[in-house]
Amino acid sequence: MKKNEVFTTVIQDMSEDGAGIGRTDGYTWFIKDTVIGDVVEASAMKMKKHYGFARLVRILTPSPHRVEAKCPVARQCGGCQLQAMSYEEQLAFKERKIRSHLSRLGGIPEEEIPMEPVMGMEDPWRYRNKAQFPFGRNKAGEIITGFYAGRTHAIIEHEDCFLGVEENKEILEIIKKFMNEYKIDPYDETAHRGLVRHALIRKGFVTGELMVCLVINGDRLPHSQELVNRLREMPGMTSVSISINKEKTNVIMGKEVVNLYGPGYITDWIGEVKYRISPLSFYQVNPVQTRKLYETALEFAGLEGGETVWDLYCGIGTISLFLAQKAGKVYGVEIVPQAIEDARENARLNGMENVEFFVGKAEEVLPEQYEKNHVRADVIVVDPPRKGCDAKCLETIVKMQPKRLVYVSCDSATLGRDVKYLRENGFEVERVRGCDMFPGGTHVETVVLMSHKSQAAQTA
Ligand code: SAH
Repeated sequence: MKKNEVFTTVIQDMSEDGAGIGRTDGYTWFIKDTVIGDVVEASAMKMKKHYGFARLVRILTPSPHRVEAKCPVARQCGGCQLQAMSYEEQLAFKERKIRSHLSRLGGIPEEEIPMEPVMGMEDPWRYRNKAQFPFGRNKAGEIITGFYAGRTHAIIEHEDCFLGVEENKEILEIIKKFMNEYKIDPYDETAHRGLVRHALIRKGFVTGELMVCLVINGDRLPHSQELVNRLREMPGMTSVSISINKEKTNVIMGKEVVNLYGPGYITDWIGEVKYRISPLSFYQVNPVQTRKLYETALEFAGLEGGETVWDLYCGIGTISLFLAQKAGKVYGVEIVPQAIEDARENARLNGMENVEFFVGKAEEVLPEQYEKNHVRADVIVVDPPRKGCDAKCLETIVKMQPKRLVYVSCDSATLGRDVKYLRENGFEVERVRGCDMFPGGTHVETVVLMSHKSQAAQTA
């Protein structure tokens, strides 16, 4: 095959980033903007030894799973790689992905994976409680806001992403009008000039509280009281602040936040637990699915009341507090000190006294506590970042032999790798359940329950 040569193929699978995968004579092609089941004509672009990239020329026979993308800018944005696939098929794709990682990387024979149906959303739109919009100007010089086009920083004007809340559009209109009236410039990245960089908008889905934080390239926002007054007219507006970011950087938020109105945070609930969210705190972006995820983790933990539980990679303590409702004692470990401050504050807010938090790496805190202080665990919960658990952390878990290990994973490939090690060291996989936190995207969250064989034998 030569560059620009056109060929026909059937899309059989999908890559991690949502490109369709087709084959010609055993050679693999990645073709963007296609859906599993499409028969397409594609043109060769870049070729490596075992695989290549091709551009979609036309769809010869559309897949039965193909749907009209609801968003007018779905292709330019690239945020929702699966938007042209029916939601049912998206869920099936995610379930296959977990299954394949657990068998190929985890070493569990495919038919033995105790897979339960993936938890999808009833309405897979407007699920995000957080959005960050960049500001800039269009060719005509007008102030615009939207999102960055895939892989670049060109702003595509679009204020009503269907994943975000309906209030986003109204808030952005207020900010733009304010900027126009008071001649406040949007930030220009290339020249490192202008003031308004981004607007961060967050909403508490249960409380209805809204937060706006304007990220600026300066120390103060002129006429800020006027902006506050206008924003306050919106029902639910609880917190308005500015974040100072004068760096030449891709990082959106600055380190310093100056409060303009309200208590500096909004409050939200997941199930029976209350959380305080400030502009810089980490908080899961899909609260409806987060509740299902945490409830599954709690169910898998099988708590009866007196257990000692470790929650590793605990963030702001969301899972820790969820578990503390049913456990004797919960210990949380997290590397970011600010997150632990939030975790402690959240424990106080809920009047929970049976939780204790440690700042540090899970792979350092847990071994130290185990070896020096001989701490033990009935149940261990881990929720690591995409790279999975550190070897030293897994080693200590194996030594501690908890009855149950609940692994919450945002990347099923590293989950597979870690499950392999744990299975080789006395653990058995008992339940597996996916949870779709990002409809339209390719990521999937997985909860796995593992039990220790020796413990199972003891209780039997
Ligand atoms: N369980 C939380 C957060 C999960 S995200 C929730 O559901 O909200 C993973 C967390 O692991 C992040 O907060 C990150 O800061 C933290 N982290 C990353 N590496 C770590 C390590 N080596 N030890 C402890 N925590 C770590």
